[in-house]
Amino acid sequence: MKARPVRLVMLGPPGAGKGTQGERLARDRGVPRIATGDILREAVRTGSALGQLAGRVIETGQLVSDEVVIDIVRERLAREDARGGFVLDGFPRTLVQADALDALVGGARLVVIDIEVPEPTLIQRLALRRICSRCGRTAPADAGRCPFCGGDLVQRRDDDVAVVRERLQVYARDTRVIVEFYRRRPTFRSVDGDQTPDAVAADIAAAVASAEGEWR
Ligand code: AMP
Repeated sequence: MKARPVRLVMLGPPGAGKGTQGERLARDRGVPRIATGDILREAVRTGSALGQLAGRVIETGQLVSDEVVIDIVRERLAREDARGGFVLDGFPRTLVQADALDALVGGARLVVIDIEVPEPTLIQRLALRRICSRCGRTAPADAGRCPFCGGDLVQRRDDDVAVVRERLQVYARDTRVIVEFYRRRPTFRSVDGDQTPDAVAADIAAAVASAEGEWR
């Protein structure tokens, strides 16, 4: 049986588990996970014009301009595979982006899941996080090699502790306001991300089901 489509936004600070949980959810629901950070890192890796523009911004923990990321998301949402739904991870990050997303989906309902994790846990998690230099997926530092493709694991340059502090400040300054922007909507849900990945996934599944119940 084909799962029902879902248009989902994952919110939460860096290290909250948006990627891990977003990937699970996207797989379960048969929709693409669209992560602006992944798209930008891939552009940096291939050295495209977008990558040259974004590389330095990412390394310093700042935000790429609204204009650039909104263009990326507009183009990505227009593709065939996103018609039946999507999981957005890392977008929107500013109020301008949140407004742009509403316009892009043309009034379709968004389920918004905010993953809450205390800051000391985020800092600890990001210090131990590695990504695969080949496929770009996230893995724990003690995994040795990429569990998906066997590639070498490396630390993201922006997971360096000094950059992490900057990213958390940018989150507090620019992004946390969008939690308030969405909180008033009936399809907003907040979950405790300071649990095992399986427990968080179970809470998210229940939160999504309850949010979807709002327009049944
Ligand atoms: P992430 O993988 O989501 O942590 O994103 C890594 C970096 O990419 C961020 O620190 C930003 O520099 C950039 N980035 C990703 N998504 C956005 C966005 N929606 N707006 C602005 N910059 C972004």
